[in-house]
Amino acid sequence: MEIYLDNGATTKPSKPVIRRITEVLSENWGNPSSLHQKGIQAETALEEAREQVAGGLKISAETVRFSPNGTSAIHGALFGAVRAMRRRGDKILSTAVEHAAAHNPLQELAKEGYKVEMLSPSLHGQDFASEFAGKVDEKTILVNVMMVNNETGQIFPVEEIATAVKRANAQTLFHCDAVQGFMKIPFSLKRSNIDLLSVSGHKIHGPKGIGGLYVKKGARIVPTMFGGGQEGAIFPGTENVAFACGLGEAVVQQGPKAEEFLKKMTDLNRYLRQNIQAINDTFILSPTAQASPYILSLGIKGIRSEILLHFLEARRIYVSSGSACSRGKKSRVLAAYGIPDKLADSAIRVSMSGDTMREELDRFCEVLEEAGKSIRRS
Ligand code: PLP
Repeated sequence: MEIYLDNGATTKPSKPVIRRITEVLSENWGNPSSLHQKGIQAETALEEAREQVAGGLKISAETVRFSPNGTSAIHGALFGAVRAMRRRGDKILSTAVEHAAAHNPLQELAKEGYKVEMLSPSLHGQDFASEFAGKVDEKTILVNVMMVNNETGQIFPVEEIATAVKRANAQTLFHCDAVQGFMKIPFSLKRSNIDLLSVSGHKIHGPKGIGGLYVKKGARIVPTMFGGGQEGAIFPGTENVAFACGLGEAVVQQGPKAEEFLKKMTDLNRYLRQNIQAINDTFILSPTAQASPYILSLGIKGIRSEILLHFLEARRIYVSSGSACSRGKKSRVLAAYGIPDKLADSAIRVSMSGDTMREELDRFCEVLEEAGKSIRRS
């Protein structure tokens, strides 16, 4: 039996998603910008997908832009916001635990001379809204906070933070990387103060290589890539119609199940924690409150994460060490959380999906226990 517990890295595309992509590739292969029938058909499919994604976010379709992936959605938002606001100030606030997709663009902006301040959060909660708001001044042009941390599962109260930020400076733009929260953690975008929000297809059983950016009406960002005027000129170039439709289908599939899955994940997460705690020398880094039940960061003290990962892999259990994107490098994120190196070096990430079964977690724990004993012996 193969046990896939790396859904934070990517999820398996669902059958309806694959079916929809295949259908669009074979029947709706026109260029959505073409003026003839073939183009109109493709445009119709693309606009239907936009409606579906907007439906999942409960906002209007014209505020959704398709992007080549989650990373480019975030890039377009951050650079687009800062460039649009350049004359108003030079201060940017963020958490210090963002995914590389947001962290690295912010580092680039710092090199360009922007004053980027990153707050190191505590895993055990704090008043994020007042902390961010307290740092906002008249020069603050952008605040960037992720919805769910991809390594620990910590949830940031982004709606609350955005409101506090706007109270401090109504002009400041607020971007949220919702890649690990979309379709998993409930949030309300419509009446929120979030100006920009990024999502990605492959974390919700859609295809890789497609993302979306919500741009609130009235929030101005400028293009940072230049070409045709597609996707509000923010993501120019011919749209990936098939994958946009795949993302739309994923939203249609996941939306109605989101609540049921959240409950299932909460139960499974609790079950997994109890079983892990019963194994010698294990530790859990993920917080118990304000955390996505989809993600659990854990380990066995004294056993390096890569060794454990390969032990599990040899038994066809797939997890990741820290974040899949850090690929064996020391986790910058866990360090920013103040986790001692010794524990961070041993941390693996288990990430579930609606398909995860209790028996799979039983097997995982069985192998984890075996790993603790046999790796130590050797
Ligand atoms: N943001 C977070 C929190 C993520 O976990 C990821 C992917 O792991 C991304 C952004 C990047 O998304 P994509 O892989 O679609 O570029």
